[in-house]
Amino acid sequence: MVILGRQGSGKGTQSLRLAAQYGCVHLSTGDVLRAAVEEGTELGRQAAGIMNAGGLVGDDVMIPLVAERVAKPDIMSGGVLLDGFPRTADQANGLEAMLADLGQELTIAINLDVPVEEVTERMMARGREDDTEEAIARRLSLYEEQTAPLLDWFAERGLLATVDGLGEEDQVFSRLTEAIDGRMA
Ligand code: ADP
Repeated sequence: MVILGRQGSGKGTQSLRLAAQYGCVHLSTGDVLRAAVEEGTELGRQAAGIMNAGGLVGDDVMIPLVAERVAKPDIMSGGVLLDGFPRTADQANGLEAMLADLGQELTIAINLDVPVEEVTERMMARGREDDTEEAIARRLSLYEEQTAPLLDWFAERGLLATVDGLGEEDQVFSRLTEAIDGRMA
């Protein structure tokens, strides 16, 4: 499964709950990168500046990173919820190629839909280190430019389900499971 949505849409919170519900791995590329920064690895040193500026880490780094992770036995047997990947057209094509290599298929791509005004307010309120006003604006405009077009990409493949992300957390979670269960049935 793939979950897409603007930064601040509640993707991270809902993804944790969904992974628990469906017994799959939650793979957040943002979490992977933040852990690398924390540990001071080579990847972390490359990513830190880009992340703080609200930019995107290169596809040449992200695609092999995800390809390597999804080939591991836990994901091969139990599945994965991808959170934060793909974010660009090249990453989407990379995902298609890696799944084909592994003989796996996507079940659903969820668009967790929350309007720009609402996510901006939410992000200003959460105060994460990379949530400066400038970085937020940059991330949101990159989302509209690079990631929003992926909605069409998934729709063309019959995989897209749009879920309203406004409202109580539990209510949003129910909408998500309804969309996924409908797809799995
Ligand atoms: P947000 O949704 O608020 O951007 P994430 O945790 O998904 O938070 O990502 C944090 C940062 O990590 C991004 O702003 C970006 O710099 C980097 N990042 C995460 N996933 C990707 C990706 N698939 N491609 C490129 N950069 C990524």
